[in-house]
Amino acid sequence: MKNLKAFEARRAGLLFVAAMAIVAVLFHSAAYAEGGLVKIADGVYSYVDAKGGLPANSFGANAGIIVGRDSIAVVDTLISAKLARRFVSDIRAVSDKPIRYVINTHSHLDHTFGNSELAKTGAILISSENCRINMKKNSEAVLKNTAAYGLTAQDMEGTAIAYPTVMFPDRMSLDLGDMRVELISVAESHTDDSLIVYVPGAKTLFAGDILFTGYHPYLADGDIPAWGKSLDAIKAMDVEKIIPGHGPVSTKKDLDDMKSYLTLFDAKARELAAKTNNADVILDGLKKALPARPEGAMLIMGNIKGKYLRH
Ligand SMILES: [Zn+2]
Repeated sequence: MKNLKAFEARRAGLLFVAAMAIVAVLFHSAAYAEGGLVKIADGVYSYVDAKGGLPANSFGANAGIIVGRDSIAVVDTLISAKLARRFVSDIRAVSDKPIRYVINTHSHLDHTFGNSELAKTGAILISSENCRINMKKNSEAVLKNTAAYGLTAQDMEGTAIAYPTVMFPDRMSLDLGDMRVELISVAESHTDDSLIVYVPGAKTLFAGDILFTGYHPYLADGDIPAWGKSLDAIKAMDVEKIIPGHGPVSTKKDLDDMKSYLTLFDAKARELAAKTNNADVILDGLKKALPARPEGAMLIMGNIKGKYLRH
C-alpha cells in the first residue's frame, strides 16, 4: 500500500513536472544567465534569478562556485551535459584555478545531471549519504524518462549520471586555501538528502532548494515541519547573502517568507483535503490563500497531487 502510494505520488509528480514544462514553454522564451556567473561576494559567484524556467534551462535552478587561493568548489551542476559544459566555460571566465570539489545540494535532476561533465575536470563529487542513495535509486530511470519532464533528446545529448564518491553524515569542511567552506546536512527538509553550503568568510550561503524565492516551491518530497525548523536554523547563522535553489540573491527575510508559505500551504491543503479529494477544489482554495507568484496553478497542483490527495 505504501509502495503503491509512493508510486502514485511519483506518477503525479511526473505529470506535474510535464505540465510545468508545458507552462514554462508557454510563458518563457528567454534563455538565462547568458551573461555568465554573477559575483555575489569575494570568491563567491553564481547563476542567480534565471530568466525563464524552461526545463532545458534547469527549471531556472541556480548553480555557483567558491574560489579560494588554491582551488575551486562547485555547487550543483544543472540539468544536462550541455549546460554543465557552458557552466565550466563560465567558471573559466572567472578563474583558471583547479576545480577540486563538486557539491550536490540534493539529488533532484536540475542539480545533479551535469555531474559527469564537471567530473571530467578531475573534481571529486561530494554529497550527503542520502543524496547518493537516492541518485542510485532514481537517477538512471529519470534520465531514461526525461521527456516526461519536458526535456528533448537534444537537450540531454551526452548527459550521463555520475554519482558522488565522497559522502558525509552531518558536516564536512573544505579548505580551498584562505577560503573555508562548510557543508551541513539539512535533512529532512525539501528532500531527505539536502545539504547547505556555507562560506563563513563571505557570510554567504548556498541554500539549495531549501529556499525558493519568488517561485512556488516544489514541496511534494518535503517534510514541512522539519523544513520550517531548518529555515529557522539557517536564520540563526551568521549569513548576509543567501543563494536560493531558484530565484534571486536572498536575505533572511526570504527565509521567513518561505516558512510562512510552507506553513500556510500545508495547513490549508490538509484542511481542504480533509473535506474533498477533488484536486481542482483544493487548488481553488489554495490559490485564494497563497501569495500570487508565476505559474501558480500548475505548481500548486503538482504539490497537491504529489502530497495531499488520497489515492
Ligand atoms: Zn529540488
